[in-house]
Amino acid sequence: MGCPDPASCCYSCWAVYNLTMVDRNALFMYSPELESLPYPEDHPFNTKRARRTRELAESRGWLSGPGIQVEAAEPAARMDLKKVHSARYLHAFKSSAEGVWQSEAMGMGLGSSDCPMFEGVFDHAVFATGMTLFAARRLLAGEVDVAFNPSGGFHHAGREQASGFCYINDVAIACLTLADAGKRVVYLDIDVHHGDGVANAFYGRADVMTISLHEDPRVLFPGTGFVHEIGKGAGEGYCVNVPLPIGTYDMGYQNAFEALVLPLIKAYGPDVFVLEFGADALAGDPLAHLQLTNNTYVEVITQLLGFGKPILMTGGGGYQMENTVRAWALGWRVLCGTADEAAGPVPWEALLDEEVEIPDLQRETVSRTVSQTVEQVKEKVFPYHGLS
Ligand SMILES: [Zn+2]
Repeated sequence: MGCPDPASCCYSCWAVYNLTMVDRNALFMYSPELESLPYPEDHPFNTKRARRTRELAESRGWLSGPGIQVEAAEPAARMDLKKVHSARYLHAFKSSAEGVWQSEAMGMGLGSSDCPMFEGVFDHAVFATGMTLFAARRLLAGEVDVAFNPSGGFHHAGREQASGFCYINDVAIACLTLADAGKRVVYLDIDVHHGDGVANAFYGRADVMTISLHEDPRVLFPGTGFVHEIGKGAGEGYCVNVPLPIGTYDMGYQNAFEALVLPLIKAYGPDVFVLEFGADALAGDPLAHLQLTNNTYVEVITQLLGFGKPILMTGGGGYQMENTVRAWALGWRVLCGTADEAAGPVPWEALLDEEVEIPDLQRETVSRTVSQTVEQVKEKVFPYHGLS
């Protein structure tokens, strides 16, 4: 799969993606109860994104049909939350959310401008985590092949730290649940920000390989995710960071993906993927500076599907509402792969970004920097996996 004319590709070549009918059981997580616990209206991590993704997918007929299930879930159990977070943190979070001030809460990022305390925030975080976990367990049981929780993807939350709009790290808890069941997990984070919370949770373990592609940490939150951060002890070589320069566009991104991510996945041989699908690397995102179109997301998901392993996909960042909703709906469409040929061609153009013009100078600069980064990552990580 790829552009038929890469030399003059406009990077919005939707026509090359022709999905075919596949026999795949797909689970879409949706809870009306979670939607009733919204974030503050002006908060970037607005829950409207998940609701509108569902509405768009539904309006296209992508939430019905053979093999497709839409399900709610229960809030995560405390014992699941404690897999990644300390009892002290969970207590401080719950108390703060209930309006009981805890002296240690501020030091944990609770009540900061990025992670405000508001009515229902604890319940929201625990509920969203329950949905991601429910999907993970359905995958584990072999009941579905792919799943998507657009209300998940809180990859910045740490053991005792709320950070970057994230309170409970649902994706880390899901990865751990899968790993504890004996699965080899590849956690792939394509959010524009470094997936620090998940990387840290598995920094010393080899049973979850974390791979994060993100904007250069020297210019973007959270300021971590450098090439040299490769894990420690048993986890050395199993934490992979691919920092990308400002202005990285589709081809630069996909080159890095093909040169690094695909061989690492092949060498590692995962049983299951967890994909944090933040859509904030899209061109036009107000909080970041990459310039992807949805073509890259289609390509990434398609490549992962090619490994023939279960995929748990979550939402994440994405602060240009319209673009995020289209990216997630399209991502779901690709993930479940239910092309209804009888319905005629899918109007992809409505789900992809406008063409992104990339000036020659930017092309050259990004290309050169990405190539250098690719070489650095290879040098640091490939030897651990018998690659060169
Ligand atoms: Zn992000």
